[in-house]
Amino acid sequence: MMELDLAARREAMVDYQIRNRGIDSPRVLDAMGRVAREAFVPNDLREMAYNDSPLPIAAGQTISQPFIVAMMVDALDLKGGERVLDVGTGSGYAAAVLACIAQKVYSIERINELAEQAQKALLAEGFSNVEVKVGDGTLGWPEAAPFDAINVAAGAPVVPEALRQQLAIGGRLVLPVGPEHAGQQLLRVTRISEDEFETESLAAVRFVPLIGAAGWKETNPPGRDNSAYQALSAEDKALVDKMKQVVEPFASVDELPLQALLERIGDSRVVLMGESSHGTSEFYRARQRITRALIEEKGFDFMVIEGDWPNVARINNYVQHAECPQTEWTAFARFPTWMWRNQEVLGFIDWLRQYNAHQQPSERVAMHGLDLYSPYQSIDAILAYLDDVDPEMAAFARERYDCLAPFKPEAANYGRWAARRGFAHCGAAVQDVLDALQARQQTYAEHGSERFLDAVQNARLVVSAEAYYRLMYDDAYNTWNLRDTYMFETLEALLEHYGEGSRGVVWAHNSHIGDARATDRLQYGELNIGQLCRERFADDAYLIGLGTNSGTVAAASDWGEPMEIKTLKQVLPESYEHLCHATGYTGFLLPLARGGDPDVRAGLMKSRLGRAIGVIYRPETERASHYYEATLPRQFDEYIWIDHSCAVTTLNSDELEGMPDTYPFGL
Ligand code: SAM
Repeated sequence: MMELDLAARREAMVDYQIRNRGIDSPRVLDAMGRVAREAFVPNDLREMAYNDSPLPIAAGQTISQPFIVAMMVDALDLKGGERVLDVGTGSGYAAAVLACIAQKVYSIERINELAEQAQKALLAEGFSNVEVKVGDGTLGWPEAAPFDAINVAAGAPVVPEALRQQLAIGGRLVLPVGPEHAGQQLLRVTRISEDEFETESLAAVRFVPLIGAAGWKETNPPGRDNSAYQALSAEDKALVDKMKQVVEPFASVDELPLQALLERIGDSRVVLMGESSHGTSEFYRARQRITRALIEEKGFDFMVIEGDWPNVARINNYVQHAECPQTEWTAFARFPTWMWRNQEVLGFIDWLRQYNAHQQPSERVAMHGLDLYSPYQSIDAILAYLDDVDPEMAAFARERYDCLAPFKPEAANYGRWAARRGFAHCGAAVQDVLDALQARQQTYAEHGSERFLDAVQNARLVVSAEAYYRLMYDDAYNTWNLRDTYMFETLEALLEHYGEGSRGVVWAHNSHIGDARATDRLQYGELNIGQLCRERFADDAYLIGLGTNSGTVAAASDWGEPMEIKTLKQVLPESYEHLCHATGYTGFLLPLARGGDPDVRAGLMKSRLGRAIGVIYRPETERASHYYEATLPRQFDEYIWIDHSCAVTTLNSDELEGMPDTYPFGL
C-alpha cells in the first residue's frame, strides 16, 4: 500500500514539479519517473521523498530537490550511452537518475560515510553501472577521463580546471559557481575544441559548498556551526534533535518547499506572513514565493501590506493596469527607502503586473495598504474623487477637513495641541465625511466600485489617523491597539468588498502577525491583527512568522536617520531563534499547528525570547530594544527559519530612469 502510494507520488512529482516547470525531455522525465527517491533518503523521511524540496541526509549534507536534479540532467543533454562524471554523490540519487540514461556513471564523494551508503543504495536499486569512490571531486577522476558529461552537485568558487580538462570535445559540464553562502549561478560549460569552451548561465541556485583543492576550504560555514548546539541543555538538545527530524529544510529561499505548506494552509481565508526585520531580503523573497503560489494555485484575490492605503493605491493602479492620474506625491514616500522601495518588492510588483495582464479585469489580483500614517494624502485623494463625482460633497468635505489643515506640515503637532485642555478636536468633522460617503454608496456606484472603495478606505484612514495622532500623547490610551484594529478593519473591509469566499494575504511585521496573546504584550493590554484574525476567523486564518540568526540588515540607527547596512548580532541563547540556529540547517519550515509534530510543539511551549527588528536596529542595546517574550506555537501556525540572511537591495534613482510615468516608486 505504502509503496504504491510512493509510486503515485513519484508520478505526481514528475508531472507537477518537473514537466509543469518546462522540462520536456522524454529521457529526463523517464529517468525521474524510474528512480525510487525514497531509497536514497533516510528511513524516517521516506514519506517526504517526493516533496518539492531538498532533504537532509547523513553528515549534514542534502539530497537536492527533484527539480534541481532534473534541471541539471536536462542541461547535460544526454542522448544515451555516455560516460558521465558525477561530483558530490551525496545520497546517490542524482547518480541513479544519470545512470538511467548514460552507459556508465563515475560518482565521487568526499565523505566516506555517504559514499558507502550511496553505493549500497545504488546496488540495492539495481544500478550496476555506477561506480562510487571517495575523493576530492574538484580534481575529477583522471583515470576514467575523458567524460561526455560532468555533473557537479556542490557550489564552486570558480570552474575547477581539472574538470574542464577532463571533458571530451563536445562534452558538457554543469555546475553551480558563486559565493559560498550567497547562492550561485548554475553554469553549463561546453568544450567546443581542445582550447575553446563556451559558458552559459542557466539559473540562480543555492548549493552546499564544493570543498577541496580547487574548491572552498573546509570551515564552519554559517548555519553549520555546531557550537550553538553544544551550548544547549540536554533537554533542549533532545528538542533540537526532534526538530531536525520534523522540519522541512531548504537550502535557499528559491528552493523553499511549497507543496506541503500549501496543504497545511488548506482553505484558509487569510494568510498572514510576518518578518522579524523590515530590511531583510530573504523575508521579502520567501513571502513572495508563497504569495505567488497562493495566487496561482489557490486563487487568492488580494494582498495587503504594512504600508499606507493611498501610497499602496498607486502600486495597485500599476499592477492592475489602471489608468491613474499623475499625482504630486510619491508612493511609499513616508517610509524609509528600504522598507518597501527595494529591488525585492519591485520584482514582485512587476511579476504581479504581468500575471494580471493575462487576467480579466475583474479577476486581477489587487494590492492594498494596511497602515494609517498618511491622512493628508488620503484627504487629497478623497477630495480629488469628490471633485470628479460630486462637487457639492467635495465642498462639504473640504470644509470638514479644514479642521486638520493647520497640522499638515507635522501631523504629530495635532497630538500636542489635542493634549491641551479645551482643544476642539476634529474627530466629529472627519467622521462626518466618512458617514456622508457611506450614505452615498448607491449614488456613487455608477462611478465604479473600486473607486468608491478607495474613497471610503481613505476616509476611514483619516478617521483612525485623527484619533491616532490625537491620542498619541495620552498615556492612558494605547495607540498601538488603535492602529492594529484599523489594520484588521481594513482587512475585513477588503474581504467584504471582494465578496463571499474571497481570500487575502497579509504582509506585516511579526509583531503585528503573531497572536499578541502569546507574547508579553498581553500584560500591556496590547492586541494585534494576528490575534483579531484568530478571534474572527479561527482556523481560517493561517499565521506565519519568519526569523533569522546572522547576516546583514538594512536599518537606521534612529528615526529620521539614514539607512545603513548593519551586521546582525547572533541571536541570544534564551531565544527560539537559538534553537533554530542549533539545528544547523540553512533554512526550514516548522509547522506548529496543522501537520505539526505534537512533541516538538510541546517542547516549544516553554516560553522564550523572540527577536524583533523594525525600521531601527540598535545592536548596542539589543536585549532591551529587540527582544520580547513569547510562546511560539501559540503565536504562529508555522515558522520559517532562514539562518543567514542579507539586507534588502535598495533602489537608487538611476535604476528608475526611463521607467514609465505610471511606475509606482517615485523618488
Ligand atoms: N547529488 C546528491 C544527491 O543526489 O543526493 C546531492 C549532493 S549534495 C547537494 C553535495 C555533496 O557534495 C555532498 O554530499 C558533499 O559532501 C559533496 N562534496 C562537497 N565537496 C566535494 C568534493 N570536493 N568532492 C566530492 N564531493 C564533494
